[in-house]
Amino acid sequence: MNLALTPAQAAFRDEVRAFIDARLPDEIRSRMRAGHPARKEDIVLFQRALNERGWAAPHWPKRYGGAELGQVERMILIDELYRAPAPLPSVFNVIMLGPLLMRFGTPAQCDHFLPKLANLDLWFCQGFSEPGAGSDLASLRTAARRDGDHYVVNGQKIWTSTAHVADWAFCLVRTEQAARKQDGISFLLVDMRTPGITVRPIISIDGSHILNEVFFDEVRVPVGNLVGEEGRGWECAKFLLGNERTGIANVGLCRERLGYARELARSLTQAGRPLIEDTGLQSELALLDAEIRALEVTNWRLLMAPETGLAGQAFASVLKLKGTEVQQDVAALLARLAGPAALERRPAEGEAGMHWAAPLMPRYLHSRAASIYGGTSEIQKDILAKAILG
Ligand SMILES: Cc1cc2nc3c(=O)[nH]c(=O)nc-3n(C[C@H](O)[C@H](O)[C@H](O)COP(=O)(O)OP(=O)(O)OC[C@H]3O[C@@H](n4cnc5c(N)ncnc54)[C@H](O)[C@@H]3O)c2cc1C
Repeated sequence: MNLALTPAQAAFRDEVRAFIDARLPDEIRSRMRAGHPARKEDIVLFQRALNERGWAAPHWPKRYGGAELGQVERMILIDELYRAPAPLPSVFNVIMLGPLLMRFGTPAQCDHFLPKLANLDLWFCQGFSEPGAGSDLASLRTAARRDGDHYVVNGQKIWTSTAHVADWAFCLVRTEQAARKQDGISFLLVDMRTPGITVRPIISIDGSHILNEVFFDEVRVPVGNLVGEEGRGWECAKFLLGNERTGIANVGLCRERLGYARELARSLTQAGRPLIEDTGLQSELALLDAEIRALEVTNWRLLMAPETGLAGQAFASVLKLKGTEVQQDVAALLARLAGPAALERRPAEGEAGMHWAAPLMPRYLHSRAASIYGGTSEIQKDILAKAILG
């Protein structure tokens, strides 16, 4: 398969590259290159810069701030952001909620929320998972009962990424006990400042605070914040979880991290010789490079000819599964290159003197979570087994 870009696509890539060079602060770029996650303020700053060009939500209609880019241009844009590396626009805002509102929301909801989602004026989090409802999401129990022109929400969400810094949450709640558990679920937009919401941190093994528990105690949500029909939220959930294929394999991320591993291998020495001269390491780098190329070709096949090979969902599962494995392998290699220095205590935010190796172990530990979020690896294997074996 020929992966060469057309002259127009290459010109677009150059335009994106020039934009990133002009607008991405060096400080953000070098922090991310060293392996630190983007901070909230970095993400907001750069999403707003992208939004000025219609590139924060590039596939959206122009009237809502998008650029109506096709799949190939979107892929080029994502790859360039990873390559920089630059913070990516909020997945919750741009990939999940925005398209969902365009499909199921009222015109008033679209007009109110979409421009704010594109510009990250509102930071949304996703309140789906609960204790006892993860892979089996339809078992969720957080309840919303109707009381006049409000729903009153009671229950608990868990693993809610960035809930502690979010302005709003999009949540699945049970509005009715139905015979089939997929029925009676509704999709609500909840202002995180509403009385009765408590957010409790969950500190991950990498030392970061991204995840939270969110408790709802008699939380009053206006009926106007219901998206789609009451009791039909499962349709929304399926749409939201199934509509993204473009960046699922994280090819650009894997490539950028492998590039950093090569850079380190060239500059680090062992017994006076550059690590890159080690033939075992050379083989490992070459193997990972081949894996990434294979992933890239598979990704393009899905984007350009979704009808080829396995059916859409199964193809997406291949990309999620394999993309996760490669991402974890590269992160593990980086942690090994850092050696014992990777085990240094992670300094507090802003603390001086962080060793270059310090972010690499937390980064590796965080990469393990990719086997869980967005559908666990076992669930992807189930989907593949059904698609292949019938
Ligand atoms: C870093 C991170 C961020 C997250 N962010 C969010 C968020 O922002 N919002 C949100 O709502 N959720 C979020 N989640 C939650 C995530 O969606 C769930 O963790 C995921 O769906 C798995 O659910 P669970 O944790 O309940 O595990 P379970 O579903 O209980 O699974 C436990 C184990 O059993 C396996 N298993 C389960 N069912 C099957 C099956 N049918 N066949 C084979 N094996 C099976 C799983 O693969 C897993 O190994 C996040 C999770 C992580 C790790």
